[in-house]
Amino acid sequence: MSEPQSEIQHFTKNWQQQLAEAFNNIEDLYRYLNLSPDDLPVSVAAAENFALRVPLSFAACMEKGNPHDPLLRQVLPVKEELFAYPGFGSDPVGDLAAATQSSVLHKYHGRVLFINTGSCAINCRYCFRRNFPYADLQLSKQKENAAVQTIRDDATISEVILSGGDPLLLNDSRLNRLIQQLDDIKHLKRIRIHSRLPIVLPARITEELIGTLRQSPKQVVIVVHCNHANEINERVITACKTLTKNGITLFNQSVLLKGVNDNAEALCELSEQLFSHGVIPYYLHLLDKATGTGHFEVSEAEALALVRQVQATLPGYLVPKLVKEQAGAVSKQTVL
Ligand SMILES: *Cc1c(COP(=O)(O)O)cnc(C)c1O
Ligand code: SF4
Repeated sequence: MSEPQSEIQHFTKNWQQQLAEAFNNIEDLYRYLNLSPDDLPVSVAAAENFALRVPLSFAACMEKGNPHDPLLRQVLPVKEELFAYPGFGSDPVGDLAAATQSSVLHKYHGRVLFINTGSCAINCRYCFRRNFPYADLQLSKQKENAAVQTIRDDATISEVILSGGDPLLLNDSRLNRLIQQLDDIKHLKRIRIHSRLPIVLPARITEELIGTLRQSPKQVVIVVHCNHANEINERVITACKTLTKNGITLFNQSVLLKGVNDNAEALCELSEQLFSHGVIPYYLHLLDKATGTGHFEVSEAEALALVRQVQATLPGYLVPKLVKEQAGAVSKQTVL
């Protein structure tokens, strides 16, 4: 399907401009999708707690006129966010409190999470990040240097995971500087980047970024975050191709979300699509029980049944590991 002229023009702009033009209110998004507020009870109050934010590249993948579109559901503020669900709290895994103390989170053997920025290009309603008002902070250079020193001082660390927020929201020169510092640390084998930008803002995959990643003597791994096959458009495919062509290994992690991808067909299609573009399915996460996200929950029993169906359909390497976070555990907990 061809895109309107105004959209074609939008996508010729650089990623920062595209980001600045992202949808930031319900009315504009509804108008764009030919929806009326009567189609689905949206919640202005929920949007006040955690703003709506959706790049056009992602919104363009939604089906016009469908209030139940699986991509729209991931970003639309709804009244259920204000309900209290038993077992849901503000910091279900206990990481966020820790992340305010230090930007280097060392929970698992040999690898650390390095949180450079709390911002994201998209605000996913199911994210635990929604409960943290400091989410837009970017690490100062001094703190970043201190974090790099922590990694330099600990020879047991072989992998640094740039995380956030979304680490690819750092600009190219900032990222280049950081990666060059990591490149100089002998005991590091891998630099891993956890980012949703290749999916929601593929214009972020600039030549400069590729240059930075290519020159690194470390193995570079990018774990993208895609929940539904409809998120993969031509721009996303091009971004993934550019990355893999330049020697970067791509994995995907998804969150199992009610009303988004909680059926075997959707999960199978997601794996098939991802793999056809060079992305290997890695994790399928059970929802972290963060306040405001209860309406997305899929029970562990349902999740198991779903993944068994996927397993009965696809080759083993297309079946993501079903995992959950457990405070205090030595790794993510494999459910299946
Ligand atoms: C998820 C996570 C990792 C990475 O775990 P892998 O199983 O290697 O993908 C590392 N550190 C923290 C704190 C995490 O939450
Ligand atoms: S951290 Fe990931 S899941 Fe959370 S809002 Fe950002 S992109 Fe979405």
